[in-house]
Amino acid sequence: MRKQIAAANWKMNLTIQQGETLLNDVLGASIELTSNQQAIFAVPFPYLLMVKEKIAGKNNYFVAAQNCYDKKSGAYTGEVSVEMLQSIGIQYCVLGHSERREYFNESNKMLADKLNLCLQYGITPIFCCGEPLPVREQNGQNEFVKLQLEESLFHLSSEEITKIVIAYEPIWAIGTGKTATTEQAQEMHQYLRSAIADKYGKEVADSISILYGGSVKANNAVELFASPDVDGGLVGGASLNANEFIQIIKALK
Ligand code: 13P
Repeated sequence: MRKQIAAANWKMNLTIQQGETLLNDVLGASIELTSNQQAIFAVPFPYLLMVKEKIAGKNNYFVAAQNCYDKKSGAYTGEVSVEMLQSIGIQYCVLGHSERREYFNESNKMLADKLNLCLQYGITPIFCCGEPLPVREQNGQNEFVKLQLEESLFHLSSEEITKIVIAYEPIWAIGTGKTATTEQAQEMHQYLRSAIADKYGKEVADSISILYGGSVKANNAVELFASPDVDGGLVGGASLNANEFIQIIKALK
């Protein structure tokens, strides 16, 4: 059975002290995760080691970077390489968040390069995809998201693609309080899985966790996560509140 994952994306929020307090509160709830469940904290680079220390010894809790650079190393002042992340023991990296696509011009091709590097260094990418509102209004979401998969993921071998996590984040639902309905989320997740199955077969498609992101809250997580093809969530705003995020972790199947 594929992993069920509650991933917090702190984005560019919180001081390290605030982050520590938040983590203490979430971890203080002592939620026992089953071997099939994971809680992941995607935090700013300067906080990675702090989070890693806090979760040490806790089963199925992980820390993730929110980004990495698409080159191995060299004269790229201010950037962080995948090898650097590996060298401090980071196991996950969020890639292609819509905010990075929009504000930092990340293309599907650039994301393919980042993805390859992550896999090369044994870091699991959490690959984000999702359509903007005008595309949804024209009912073009399936084609839009499929192209993101084709251009960033579909060069991978069957073995490689089973190592990634996908997050479907419709842009119109991010930070807007406007969650996709359970039906909309399930419909898209099923579509993504079928697109992967067409290319790699059903067994591969069934093994990949597909998270939903976009205004996930304590009060909608149970219903969203109950959908057969929704394997948890990538959570922004609500992950900054300990009680909200605790409830979201508890909502995992
Ligand atoms: P919100 O949960 O704040 O809508 O953000 C979703 C998101 O972008 C997670 O990566």
